[in-house]
Amino acid sequence: RAVRRADYRPPEWQVPRIALDFDLDPTATRVRAVLEVERTGDHDAPLHLDGDGLEPLSITVDGAPAEWTATDRGISIALNGARHRIETEVLIHPERNTQLMGLYASGGLLCTQCEAEGFRRITFFPDRPDVLSRYSVRMTADKARFPVLLANGDPVGAGDLDGGRHWAAWDDPFPKPCYLFALVAGDLVANRDTFVTRSGREVALGIWVRSPDLAKTDHALAALKTSMRWDEDVYGREYDLDVFNIVAVDDFNFGAMENKGLNIFNSRYILADADTATDYDYDAVAAVVAHEYFHNWSGNRVTCRDWFQLSLKEGFTVYRDQSFSADQGSAAVKRIEDVRSLRAAQFPEDAGPLAHPVRPDAYLEISNFYTATIYNKGAEVIRMMATILGPEKFRAGSDLYFDRHDGTAATVEDFVCAMEDAGGVDLAQFRRWYSQAGTPRVSARLEHEAGSGRARLYLRQTVPPTPGQPTKDPMVVPLRIKLFGAETANALGSEQLVLLKDDEAEVAFETVTEPPVLSINRGFSAPVIVETDRGPAELAFLSAHDDDPFARYEAMQQLMLDTLVAAVRHGRADQAPVVEAVRNTLTDPRLDPAFVAEAVLLPSDSFIGDQLAVVDPEAIYQAREGLRRELGQTLVDHWRAAYEGARDNRFEYTPAAKGRRRLRTVSLGYIAASGAADASDLAFRQFEEADNMSDRQGALTTLVNSGGEEAREAALDIFYHRYAGNALVLDKWFSTQALSSRTDTLARVVELSNHRDFTLANPNRARALVGAFSVNQRAFNAEDGAGYRFVADQLIALDKLNPQTAAKLVPPLGRWRRFDEGRAKLMRAELERILRTPGLSKDMLEQVGKSLD
Ligand code: ZN
Repeated sequence: RAVRRADYRPPEWQVPRIALDFDLDPTATRVRAVLEVERTGDHDAPLHLDGDGLEPLSITVDGAPAEWTATDRGISIALNGARHRIETEVLIHPERNTQLMGLYASGGLLCTQCEAEGFRRITFFPDRPDVLSRYSVRMTADKARFPVLLANGDPVGAGDLDGGRHWAAWDDPFPKPCYLFALVAGDLVANRDTFVTRSGREVALGIWVRSPDLAKTDHALAALKTSMRWDEDVYGREYDLDVFNIVAVDDFNFGAMENKGLNIFNSRYILADADTATDYDYDAVAAVVAHEYFHNWSGNRVTCRDWFQLSLKEGFTVYRDQSFSADQGSAAVKRIEDVRSLRAAQFPEDAGPLAHPVRPDAYLEISNFYTATIYNKGAEVIRMMATILGPEKFRAGSDLYFDRHDGTAATVEDFVCAMEDAGGVDLAQFRRWYSQAGTPRVSARLEHEAGSGRARLYLRQTVPPTPGQPTKDPMVVPLRIKLFGAETANALGSEQLVLLKDDEAEVAFETVTEPPVLSINRGFSAPVIVETDRGPAELAFLSAHDDDPFARYEAMQQLMLDTLVAAVRHGRADQAPVVEAVRNTLTDPRLDPAFVAEAVLLPSDSFIGDQLAVVDPEAIYQAREGLRRELGQTLVDHWRAAYEGARDNRFEYTPAAKGRRRLRTVSLGYIAASGAADASDLAFRQFEEADNMSDRQGALTTLVNSGGEEAREAALDIFYHRYAGNALVLDKWFSTQALSSRTDTLARVVELSNHRDFTLANPNRARALVGAFSVNQRAFNAEDGAGYRFVADQLIALDKLNPQTAAKLVPPLGRWRRFDEGRAKLMRAELERILRTPGLSKDMLEQVGKSLD
C-alpha cells in the first residue's frame, strides 16, 4: 500500500493542455474536462487517470465513447495512438465535501484545495506533480449567489446568461501541475492595488474577502507588496502574470495555498486589525503572505517531480519567508522565534515514532508529510547551505537553480547540484541531511592550558536511531564558534565557522590569554542539540556578554533549563544564577525590549520534558511555577518598572511597539506569578483598557491562568460577547481556556466541546480546542487518562468528517514512550481504540499505526 521513492517512474502520458468547464452549484457541480494527452515514449501503457469520489456522466476518446475500466484509484483507458483527446464529464457535490479537499463550500463560497491530491476529487486526471499542463477554465454560476468567479492566470472573458446565471473564463499561460489548480466563486469584494515589477509589468493585486472583512485586509496587502519587492531585491525573482489574487476562506485544512496567480488562504492568515489580531497574528499574516507569494518561483515556476521532493519547495520557501521576516524587524527575535518553534514541533517529531528524513522514502498518505521536518528542518538545511556557501555564492546557486529548472518538475538533488556548481563546493556528505532522520547531538568540551595560551575544543557527534534507520553516518555540522575572555569579557579572536564532519574533531586556539568561555552554534547555525559542560557561571556570563544576540538568549535558556531539570530531578535547585541573569537582562538599558521579553521567558513545559528520560508533567509544572514565582517575587520591582515603562498611548504596529507590548505582557505574567495582591486587578485593567488584541489577550491569558475566579469569569464573558460572531477571535477564546494550567481545565474543555459555538467541521475551531488542549502538558497528561480519552473521542469523530485535520492531531498521543508506565499504557489504549474504529481513514491509519509500532 505504501508509495516508495525508489519506485518513481516518469509519466507514460503527458497532458500538455486541459480545458475545464464548471457548471457550479453547491449541491451538484458538473465538471467537463477536455484533455490533450500525449504518449511520452515507445510503450503501449494505457492512460491512467486518477479519480476519487467522482460520478462519471460520460467519457469519450476523440469524440467516441471510451472503453474504460475502473481501477482502485481512478480509471484506465487503453489507447492506440500517440495523441488523443479525452473528454470527461462528472458530477461532484461541494456541499457534502467535509474533507475540504477538491471543490468545497465554505461560508457561502465555493473554493478549491488541490495540494497534494485533491484535483482527483474534481475531475479525472493524472494527479502527480510531474504532469504539467496549460489550463483554460470556464465557469458558469448563479450570478446573485456567486457574482465573482476567479481562477488561475488571466481573465479572458465574462458575460451574462439566461436564468440569472453568468460565466467567466480564465487562462493560465504557465504550464503547471494540477495541485496548483484553483477556482473561487462567491460574493466577494476586493482590496485592490497595483504593483509595478522591476521590468515594468503592472500587476493588478486583489485581496478578496466577504464585505464585512474588507477593513481587515490592509496589512496583508501591504505585506504582499513588500514581499514582491523583496523577492526582486534579494533573489532577483519577478512576478510573471498581470493579476495576482488572494482569497480568504474560513474553512481550510492548513495555512494557505500557493495556487498560480490565485492564492487561497485560511482567513486567519489574511484578516488583521488592532482590535482582533495580536502582534503574533500580524507577523504570521505577513509571513504566510510572503511564503505563498515566494512559492511563485520556489514551487510553481520550478515545481516538484514527486511528493518525496516536497521539501524542495517547502524547505526553501520557509527559509525565504524566514529571511524576509528577519528583514522586516528584529532579525535576532525572529531567529529566536524560529528556533523555539523548531524545538517545540520538529525536535519531538524527530525523536518520536513519526520521525522521517527531510526527503522521505515512503508514505501511505502524503498529507501526513506536511510536517515540521519537511518545512522547518528543511529550511534549516537550506540555511546551512547558505552558511557554508556564504551569501554571494548562495545567491548564485539559487539563480542557477531557477535558471536550469524553470518550467520543470525538479528534485532535491537538482537543488543541491546547483549549489555545488555555483558554490564550487562538494556537498556529497552534506546530502545526509536529506536522507537521515533524527536530531544530531554534538558534545563540546573546551580545555585551556593557561601557561601556553592554547585552548582546544573537543567535538563529538552522534545521530540517534530513528524508525527504519538503526545506524547513522556522521553529518556535516556547521558550527559558528567564538571564545570570550572570562575576565575582560573581550572576544578572543573572531568567529570561526567549524565544519564538523567526522564523529570527532578537535579545534585548536592560540593566544588564549585568559580563561575562555565557549560560544557555540551561534545563530543556531546547525539544527542540533549541543551538550557542553558549561556551568551556571559561564552561561550567566554569556547571557550578559556574548555579542551574538541569539547566543545570549541561548545561554540564558540553557541556564534556565539546567536549573529546571535539576529541580525536577532533585525537587530543588539553586535558583539564584537564573534570577541574577534575568535581573541583568531586564535592567540592561541597551537591550531591545522585544529581545528582553524573549530572553526572560522560561522554557516551555514540553521542552523541559524533552530533556528528561521520563516525563513527569506535574513535577515539571511545579518546578517551572516555582522558578516563575521566585523570579516574580525577587524581581517584582523590576517587573513593575518594565510593565510601566512599556506602556504606549496608542496602538502602532512597528517593531519597537511590538517589543514593548511583548515585554509588558511578559512582565504582567511575572507580577502575577509573584503572588502580588494587585495582580488580578492589574490584569483586569489591562484587559479593559487595551486598544489592541495583544494587550487584551495577554491580560486574558494571565487572568485565565492565575486570576481570581470572579475576574477570570468576567473577562471571559466580556471577551465572548464582545467578539460574538467573529470566528477568528472566538478561536482565541476557546484556545486560551484549553491552554490554561488550572486543574479544572479538562472539565472546562469538555464543557466547551458542547458549546454552541464549537464544531469539528471547522478546522480552526477544532484546532483551537482539541489541538490546543492536547499540547497542554499538565491537563492533557492528567494521571487518570481522562485527557487522552477526550482527545481520542474527538479524533474519532473528526476523522469521519476530515481525516487530514484529524491525523495532524495524533502526535501528542504518540508521545507515550516518553511517559511513565501508567500514562504510557493509557495513551496506548486510546491509540488502539482509535485503530479499532471501523472505517478509519488511511491518514489516521498511518499516523496511529506508526505511533503504536
Ligand atoms: Zn509552502
